[in-house]
Amino acid sequence: MTESCGGTIPVQNGYPVPVRRPDGMLTHELDPQDHGPQDACGVFGVWAPGEEVAKLTYFGLFALQHRGQESAGMAVSNGRQLMVFKDMGLVSQVFDESTLGSLKGHLAVGHTRYSTTGASVWSNAQPTFRSTRRGSMALCHNGNLTNSTRLEQLLSERTDAPVPHKENMDSTNDTSLVTALLATYDEPLEEAALEVLPKLEGAFSLTFCDEETLYAARDPQGIRPLVLGRLSHGWVVASETCALDIVGASFVREVEPGELVMIDENGLRSRTFAEPEPKGCIFEYVYLARPDTQISGRRVHEVRVEIGRRLAREHPADADMVMPVPESGTPAALGYAEESGIPFGQGLVKNAYVGRTFIQPSQTIRQLGIRLKLNPLRHVIEGRRLVVVDDSIVRGNTQRQLIRMLREAGAAEVHVRISSPPVQWPCFYGIDFASRAELIAPGLSVDEIRRSIGADTLGYVGIDGLTEASGIPETNLCRACFDGRYPVATPEHFVQEES
Ligand code: SF4
Repeated sequence: MTESCGGTIPVQNGYPVPVRRPDGMLTHELDPQDHGPQDACGVFGVWAPGEEVAKLTYFGLFALQHRGQESAGMAVSNGRQLMVFKDMGLVSQVFDESTLGSLKGHLAVGHTRYSTTGASVWSNAQPTFRSTRRGSMALCHNGNLTNSTRLEQLLSERTDAPVPHKENMDSTNDTSLVTALLATYDEPLEEAALEVLPKLEGAFSLTFCDEETLYAARDPQGIRPLVLGRLSHGWVVASETCALDIVGASFVREVEPGELVMIDENGLRSRTFAEPEPKGCIFEYVYLARPDTQISGRRVHEVRVEIGRRLAREHPADADMVMPVPESGTPAALGYAEESGIPFGQGLVKNAYVGRTFIQPSQTIRQLGIRLKLNPLRHVIEGRRLVVVDDSIVRGNTQRQLIRMLREAGAAEVHVRISSPPVQWPCFYGIDFASRAELIAPGLSVDEIRRSIGADTLGYVGIDGLTEASGIPETNLCRACFDGRYPVATPEHFVQEES
């Protein structure tokens, strides 16, 4: 088993097994059985005496909702006491005015979570809380650790408790393991963090706090994003710059790979706990981050438009209209249209509120598949040769249904263009793809995939084109789900065979 930021990933034959969620309710996914890549979590932190930090955290998490929709929580300190409130559901379901009004203080950390485990339960919601020898602490984590077995042993050595230590934790995830480890130290939390952080392997962007101080830390590879922002009377840390914008904070800089930041009444301090070896996740640019976010100086929307331009050069099509699969395919479709000179159009309408219903669809309704969420604009599609731009193909079921729907609506031809290379390998750093056996790309040629989904032509952007569009040197990126070259040791159970 590997641990995730939200829990434990079940593993079969050496590969992570994706979570099957009870499909009782509708989700934002076009097809719940063929979900796109999912990010594990969004983290937030604020230090701002005199401000309503709980409300700032609420809105920060609201901006990060796309990174996790299963649970949300925050911890608020008034300098004497740390209060935690967390629950299952969207940010807007977990918190209301009276809850936020009761969470008073000058600093807060918050979390929104997508679980990569079947155990999508309250105890796995974050922040995780521990009493320490000096008070208490709360911690939020985005990413997955790959050496949790070693960390369990370490915890055992420090506490004389048997392994595993689940009985001593408030949940079974690796975040609790880190929190428990930090709590074993007599020293102040800053010193404990400088001891523990170098021992963690994998992806971690953390926000944590005790009663007085806000902390933020990022793994030496900086796989998941983490940024620092300035309020007029305080500081903010967040997974993405879009969360700074929503609370009125100005972007200062990224938290550097291998850096620990401390913010308290004495201002901001920084310590390096490991030599940086940057390997940012390239999938953040393709799909995960919000388009209005900025990573490593590049606006994600701009990168996606540029990927679309490259896609048009690499895989031109003779067509009448370029249309996106909404919403994630839109920027790349704009780039494709711009470069090819083929007019851009909207051929599909997506119900923006589809993930907000709590009524279970009947079996008859469920069989409608993606029609529950997407409706074709027949008068736009009819008789046209379409270029349909999407961000990725996971199992292929969504694209198969989509192409059938477009043909039924009268499309003359459907040319599918994908703004990422074929996904060939699982991610161990916080993204939940399908298992390798369920991915459509391994073992099939592009033409075989084209036939399987029923497209007239199919083209994926090349890995070099994608890398150049990101503006980041290849040596500073993780691209393992496309090329199988993992930048950090994978968990012991993972045996990588030749593709
Ligand atoms: S394996 Fe893929 S999704 Fe995971 S961190 Fe690397 S590039 Fe990102």
